[in-house]
Amino acid sequence: MSRIASVLLPMPLPEAFDYAEPEGMVLAVGDQVAAPLGPRLLRGVVVALREAAGGNRPLKPVAAILEETRLPPGTLEFIQWAARYAVDAPGQPLAIALRGARAPKARPVRIVEVTGAAPARPTPARTTVIETARARPLSPADLARAAEVSSGVVKALIDEGVLAVRVADAIAAFDPPDPALPGALLNPSQAAAARALKAMLAEGGFNVALLDGVTGSGKTEVYLEAAAAALAADPAAQVLILLPEIALTQAVIGRVTSRFGAVPGEWHSDVPPPARRRVWEAVANNRCRIVVGARSALFLPFPNLKLIVVDEEHDASFKQEEGFIYHARDLAVVRARIEGAGAILASATPSLETLRNAEAGRYRWLRLSARHGQATLPSIDLIDLRESPPETGRWLSPPLVAAMVETYGRGEQTLLFLNRRGYAPLVLCKACGERMTSPETDSWLVEHRYSGRLVCHLTGFSMPKPKACPHCGAHDSLVSIGPGVERVEEEARHLFPDARVAVFSSDTIYDAREARRMIEAMADGHIDILVATQAAAKGHNFPNLTLVGVVDADLGLRGGDLRAAERTYQLLAQATGRAGRKERPGRALLQTWAPEHPVMQALKAQDRDAFVAAEMAERELAGLPPFGRLAAVIASGVDAAQLDAFMRAMAQAAPNAPGVEVYGPADAPLGLIRGRRRRRFLVRADRGVDLSAYMATWRARVKPPASVRVAIDIDPYSFL
Ligand code: ADP
Repeated sequence: MSRIASVLLPMPLPEAFDYAEPEGMVLAVGDQVAAPLGPRLLRGVVVALREAAGGNRPLKPVAAILEETRLPPGTLEFIQWAARYAVDAPGQPLAIALRGARAPKARPVRIVEVTGAAPARPTPARTTVIETARARPLSPADLARAAEVSSGVVKALIDEGVLAVRVADAIAAFDPPDPALPGALLNPSQAAAARALKAMLAEGGFNVALLDGVTGSGKTEVYLEAAAAALAADPAAQVLILLPEIALTQAVIGRVTSRFGAVPGEWHSDVPPPARRRVWEAVANNRCRIVVGARSALFLPFPNLKLIVVDEEHDASFKQEEGFIYHARDLAVVRARIEGAGAILASATPSLETLRNAEAGRYRWLRLSARHGQATLPSIDLIDLRESPPETGRWLSPPLVAAMVETYGRGEQTLLFLNRRGYAPLVLCKACGERMTSPETDSWLVEHRYSGRLVCHLTGFSMPKPKACPHCGAHDSLVSIGPGVERVEEEARHLFPDARVAVFSSDTIYDAREARRMIEAMADGHIDILVATQAAAKGHNFPNLTLVGVVDADLGLRGGDLRAAERTYQLLAQATGRAGRKERPGRALLQTWAPEHPVMQALKAQDRDAFVAAEMAERELAGLPPFGRLAAVIASGVDAAQLDAFMRAMAQAAPNAPGVEVYGPADAPLGLIRGRRRRRFLVRADRGVDLSAYMATWRARVKPPASVRVAIDIDPYSFL
């Protein structure tokens, strides 16, 4: 009797399709196969196999098994769970999971080995190279970099026969991590937290801990101890460390490498396709045991995942807002449950969701309340811009400038934080008042001086800055309103002509290597004043940084949504937490127009608990997360009448369910993007409601016309 294979295709289809298992082919669940769909052959994954009952109409056969590597059962279960939760097609998360499998194959790599022959001239540089090569397998170029010598030194040693080059399979190039290498000597509270985490992992099975420690308390050291314990307990155990920013992955990769003597797998959007393929296969074959990555690393095919760390768990960058919509922190907990693994959520400013789970005893709660060693938390002061405004056309107030002068005079570093890319957020014509907006989009164009262009941050549209106003034709009438990081940099250069000033934003730093270079330059003291968006304001250790100036502390509170206060608190606590990492105490100055605002007061008093308690009380009263649940429906269409008709039909079709309220339809705050009108519903539900099931039922009742796109966002973070 033949069998039927359910094959999931990485496309937005509602379910898996059935195919026949052809004569002579033995399929297994998790196999990557070529399956015919219409005239095409597509890569899909076998998610189930069953015996064919007689009398069915004949099915098309699976065409081929494509790879030896299978997706493990936990990964398949996770993909299907995530799709159901997100009310989306399972092919969507599958497409993410197969990103590495579909990338071009990695070429074999060249690895340097020590032959044992003695070098003719044992210079210090040569000795370092030999020791480095003995410690870990590296390519000739990486070896030269790791030993900090020129490539000529390595080449000479190879020519001499002291080193030999071996060609290795790309996957085999992952060295096993050595958990027995010594970690940092932990201080008593770190040691207590590490013990609690190890005990949690030793219990085995699914458990979650919140590692709640102030900035600089050594959370990384602590979770690396937990990772060491997981790796030591099981020689096949795998560990995943998730970070919200590529810049942060770079720093953690360095720390993991020195802790375990092996380079971990690196996974984020900036990893080139062959390297992705290599990590993907090595993970699936259990050759790569530690992965450091951004959110999509959660979909890698780990066969034996024992620990997931979500560092900076509160960070909104973990929410994927396009395509398949998911929150990596929440899904990390789900994946840990499916795998029977431990999860550690680390933060200095945990999300209210996670704090609620810790308060309710669902997560273990480990606190580190002081910085490690001599370092102390920075003092935080508010600068009332009503009393001490900057000069016209400037953005740094006299008290902040005075503090910068002192800091620079002492040879210490300043970080100016402004979470706004570009030069100016708005360009308008002083002759006619016209604002430069993005075509067919409710968004202003942001001026970028480096590129000389006006850019839409929403759609990516850009154009050269025109000489004349496109509306009234007046010449030289366009003026730049407000500051972005580039403009603050200009001001800093003007004030400190001899200082080394740099900008860190996603426009100036476009890849992981650039980010690493800039972070190293800052850490090594080659920059005096760094002007940065959030890309550089989190997680890093800059020992000589003693002043953080927040240019516009109120920025995140304007046009606020549910989490505006929480997010502002977290972001500013992170940014100010960069100051004073070593013996020298740090300080932070926040420029604000509203010093009486509870967020500013909480930051000044460094009283997180009071802020959280007040915020929790408000959310509880309103039944909002984490006390209730939210979902959004965002529909868009070119034809406003059609879109409205669809939204009316949808409103009528909303199922009645206890504990669920539907608000809308309403115009989205961003009412027009790329010529498409946007309208929204917001759904609030009590905690016990299966909101995904509710949304799925609702969605199934109305079929949108072809021109209308509908997206469902469970637990929305963006309300635009
Ligand atoms: P967090 O992640 O909590 O902000 P980190 O783990 O980055 O803190 O630690 C902050 C700094 O203190 C780092 O430079 C780290 O190497 C150092 N550090 C923390 N704990 C120790 C320790 N026990 N021994 C030596 N250095 C430590």
